[in-house]
Amino acid sequence: MIFKQEPTVPAKTLCSNCMREFQAGGIFGDPNSPFGVCPECEEIFEHQQGQDLKKYVDNLMLPTLVVNSDLRVIAFNGSFLKAFCEWSPKPIGLLTGELLGCLNALLAERCGGSTACLDCAIHRSALETLNTGKLQKNIRAQLTRLEGGRKVRRELLVSTDKLGDLVKITVDSFYTVLEPFSDDI
Ligand SMILES: [Zn+2]
Repeated sequence: MIFKQEPTVPAKTLCSNCMREFQAGGIFGDPNSPFGVCPECEEIFEHQQGQDLKKYVDNLMLPTLVVNSDLRVIAFNGSFLKAFCEWSPKPIGLLTGELLGCLNALLAERCGGSTACLDCAIHRSALETLNTGKLQKNIRAQLTRLEGGRKVRRELLVSTDKLGDLVKITVDSFYTVLEPFSDDI
């Protein structure tokens, strides 16, 4: 008997921003997330990123993200990619939880929209900094995601700081806890 082999990389990807299906050519084929950013939208976010922001974050030692007022990531550094992304390359313009691989970002309400997101310290402190301009330091945050097919919890300490109209999110430290096997993921 011949079994048809399931493709491991989705042929089509949903654009996180315009929700259009597009052909990502497999490069955003992260099996943990259906979302990418289509070329048209990525151009918008590249424009927001400007010339110097990428250089700036790449010179920072700690894993760092820069988000816009919609909490979409418009820059991240290599240190972040190494610490948080099993699958790369990653586009800019994803919602924070989508880039972080948060399981709540896969719910229909998407990143920031579910009741679980009300408790999200990353979301809360980024919004606080956005609204008040104030630095938030050593905020305890939790992130549940899949790593190597296992459900894990990341315990983080993050800081959020204003960067012009944007917010810089720095992961000051983190460690990983394996969650027990369960079906409810
Ligand atoms: Zn798009």
